[in-house]
Amino acid sequence: MTIFKLGLALSLAASMAACQRPAGSGGVDEKRLLAAEGNAEWLSYGKSYSEQRHSPLDKVNAGNVAQLGLAWYAQFDTDRGQEATPLMVDGVLYTTTAWSKVYAYDAKTGQQKWAFDPKVAGAKGFDACCDTVNRGVAIWKGKVFVGTLDGRLIALDAGSGKPVWSTQTTDNSKPYTITGAPRVIKGKVLIGNGGAEYGVRGYISAYDAATGKMAWRFYTAPNPTGAADGAASDKVMAEKANATWSDGAWKQTGGGATVWDAMAYDPALDIVYLGVGNGTPWNHMKRSGGKGDNLFVSSILALKPDTGAYVWHYQTTPGESWDYTATQHIMLADLTIEGQARKVLMQAPKNGFFYVLDRATGQLISAKNYVPTSWASGVDLKTGRPIETPGARYETAPALGLPGPLGGHNWQPMAFSPKTGLVYIPTQATPFAYVDDKAFAYRPGAWNVGTDFLANALPTDQAQLAALMAMIKGTLIAYDPVAQKEVWRVQHPHFWNAGVLSTGGGLVFQGAAQGEFMAYDAAKGTRLWSYKTGNGVIAAPMTYELGGEQYVALMVGAGGGGQISAPGLMPQRPRLPGRLLVFKLGGKAVAPAFPVSEQPTLDVATLTSTGDVKHGFAVYHQNCQVCHGPNATGAWLPNLRASPILASAEAWKGVVIDGTSASRGMASFARFVTPKEAEDLRAYVISEAKGAALPAVAPAKGGPAAAT
Ligand code: CA
Repeated sequence: MTIFKLGLALSLAASMAACQRPAGSGGVDEKRLLAAEGNAEWLSYGKSYSEQRHSPLDKVNAGNVAQLGLAWYAQFDTDRGQEATPLMVDGVLYTTTAWSKVYAYDAKTGQQKWAFDPKVAGAKGFDACCDTVNRGVAIWKGKVFVGTLDGRLIALDAGSGKPVWSTQTTDNSKPYTITGAPRVIKGKVLIGNGGAEYGVRGYISAYDAATGKMAWRFYTAPNPTGAADGAASDKVMAEKANATWSDGAWKQTGGGATVWDAMAYDPALDIVYLGVGNGTPWNHMKRSGGKGDNLFVSSILALKPDTGAYVWHYQTTPGESWDYTATQHIMLADLTIEGQARKVLMQAPKNGFFYVLDRATGQLISAKNYVPTSWASGVDLKTGRPIETPGARYETAPALGLPGPLGGHNWQPMAFSPKTGLVYIPTQATPFAYVDDKAFAYRPGAWNVGTDFLANALPTDQAQLAALMAMIKGTLIAYDPVAQKEVWRVQHPHFWNAGVLSTGGGLVFQGAAQGEFMAYDAAKGTRLWSYKTGNGVIAAPMTYELGGEQYVALMVGAGGGGQISAPGLMPQRPRLPGRLLVFKLGGKAVAPAFPVSEQPTLDVATLTSTGDVKHGFAVYHQNCQVCHGPNATGAWLPNLRASPILASAEAWKGVVIDGTSASRGMASFARFVTPKEAEDLRAYVISEAKGAALPAVAPAKGGPAAAT
């Protein structure tokens, strides 16, 4: 037998073994994960360790995508945002919904195999800056792993959905949350957390997949007490990070720098890459006296997966002051740059620049802005540092920032096609007025960002409002990472659109805020197919082959940070239950119209309050804007202008002070708002509901703000 024939026989045997694996056994091991990039399944969050989100499947292609139709669908019991990418392993599709619930389906028929609800307390929603979302599971050797909003990491039996072990990864007396998908590397489950707007100290932990025992932890900001943690980060903190922090509020807030989303792994180099978030407070003057780079805020970190040992870091935004996280999607690829084969890492973080790094060393190869950037004109390739615009740090005067805190690109996954060589980036332009919060004082458990959100109430002048609206854009950009230039773009009607999938069929799939799922020609951007989803889409699609047919799956459900913080700028529709849609060629299934609950009409003309409207305006924009929209324009989290509780001072106080809606995610604000101020809030919202002229912007006072 020749070597070739032997190889063929072995690979046939391997594929037969694959066919014989029982459905639902979740038998993902290292060998399968290492081969995940080229196979017909979807074994981890970004498909494979490189996180390219490109499937080689080509049965659905430019020639026949017009025949793509619904194969099956599933409807969920939550109407909050849906950000998960489903996995497909051995004929079973696993996904998560908001509130960290996990579901398993027969991937061909859609029949539900099991469901798991970790029963996260509704009041925990208060600690989630950007909705009660979850981005998905990891699978390893018969177990499905989910991180829950309240900080647990839970291992479920892949066949039954029953818990095998559960461990609390965070201190639940602090406002930590988990929304990201775990990843499994060499038998360890890696999970980070979020909460940097509120004030937490970021870290990532690795747990033994079999037992749930912690293997290592790496802190991404120094210990405010100056003590060693007995953690994998101790050495590099002492050698590099501690000295980059100065006196400031970080000693109370913990500094932020949370690891809430991106991870990727290079098995040959044996390095795991992590994206690290913004500092707390955002405002560098308040956080660290305006001094120091504040490692590892807004950095890409390279660690050894066995031990958590530090390898290298690259800080995208030294001394970050704008909520410019570097938690955005990290992907690995092998590119030819100036005639040389380079192993690169690519990221389009919130700050608006597209970075190409050598992933062995962390050396910056190139960086260029992929969206307009007002805070920096470029990146110095010698030092790797941004060339900042004078005044961008809003030390003495407000600065209009582009990007704003929602970023030029947020968590919505990109995709890279090795066929076209292009990275497909869901981008947005969302300007924001950065204003120093002169009265900033740390408030435990509240938003602690050190920028004054009163300046981000919508302008009352219609011309100014129109000018602002014209600046807000959502765009799918096909980007050449070698030439650092845009190749094509699709302009969407709104910002805050969905993640992306690339396929061997020469297609790019993306959903959008208007409630549509599209397929484009990957080389040219020509729109080839679309489907009306009936609700906004933010999640990334995935694809798999089963029984000789290719399927494309997508979680549907508006929500997340952009929807919550700027609902008035999004399509106006009620909150609708989440849905999983699965398509195939010739699919004939029909998903019913979404049930729409009738909003009781409120006769606003009869409403009265003796509260102080002007003070209510200030209190509102400091505490409520982030979830209910500037000027109470929220039409997603309950539209306060039309809320029946607005009619009753008692019911209003019940929700705001006594927490009567806590089980639905609206915790009591008694820690932050007095009963008198609650009535001022009601007076203000009534004035908005009546269409009264807005009060003049009051000076910032009291505590820190809340918003995006
Ligand atoms: Ca943030």
